[in-house]
Amino acid sequence: MIRPIIAANWKMHKTIPEAVSFAKQLKEEFPEPGNVDIVIAPPFTALSSVMEVLKDSPIHISAQNMHWGEKGACTGEISATMLVDAGCGFVIIGHSERRTLFGETGGMLNKKIHAALKSGLTPIFCMGETLEERESGATFRIIRKQIKEGLNNITSDDIRRVALAYEPIWAIGTGKTATPLQAQEAHRFIRETIATDLEYAHASETVIIYGGSVNPENTGSLMDQPDINGALVGGASLDFGPFADIIKISER
Ligand code: PEP
Repeated sequence: MIRPIIAANWKMHKTIPEAVSFAKQLKEEFPEPGNVDIVIAPPFTALSSVMEVLKDSPIHISAQNMHWGEKGACTGEISATMLVDAGCGFVIIGHSERRTLFGETGGMLNKKIHAALKSGLTPIFCMGETLEERESGATFRIIRKQIKEGLNNITSDDIRRVALAYEPIWAIGTGKTATPLQAQEAHRFIRETIATDLEYAHASETVIIYGGSVNPENTGSLMDQPDINGALVGGASLDFGPFADIIKISER
C-alpha cells in the first residue's frame, strides 16, 4: 500500500514570520499522522524556524534544492548534510525551474540524488515535458531520458527511498492542469519504465506524485487515478486554506 505525499513547494516566497505562521496553522490543523504524508518546502532561510515549529509534529520539511558536494568552495550552495542539520527529511531535485532557469542537467541531478540518499534525505525527483515536446509526441521519450539520467546507478535499495514527481512544464504555474487521464498515462509510463528499464522490482510501491496547477477543485479527480500517489503543489500551497483543503481531499 503506497502512502501518498502532499508536498508544498513555496519556491521564492515567504519571509520567516510568514513561513512560521503557516507552519503553526498546519500543525494545529493536522496534529496527528493521517493517511498522507504532508511535506512543506520553505525557502532555505526559513528551514530552521519552520523545523522549530514542526519538530513534534508528523509534518515533514523539504528543501527545494541542494548541491551534490559535501562541503567546500561552492559559494551560495547548500549540501545535503546541511539540510539534514536544518531538519529536512526531503529535498526536491530537478524541478523544471532548476533545469530551465539554472541549466541543471541530468548528470548534475544524478549526482544530487546520490548525495541526498547518502545523507538519508528522500529526494523528490521531478520530471516532465514541455508543451512543444508533448505536441510533437515526444513526452514518453523525454520522461524515459530524464529517468535514465537522473536515476543512473541508483541501487534498487535506494530507489525505494526516492519519490518521483511528474510535472508537465506546460502545467506549472499556468492554471492548465493535465487531465486526470493524461496524468495517469504519464504516471503509468513512469512506473513501467522504472520496472523495465531500471529493472526495479518494487515499482508498484514507488510514490509518484503529480504537479502542475493542482488546486482543491482538481485534486479529487487526480487522486482517483491508480498511479497518482499525491501532489506537488506550488501556487495553491501559498495560502493555508487551499493547501489544507488539498490535504483533506487527498485523505478521503
Ligand atoms: C511546482 O512548482 O512544482 C508546481 C507544481 O507549481 P504550480 O502548482 O503553481 O503549478
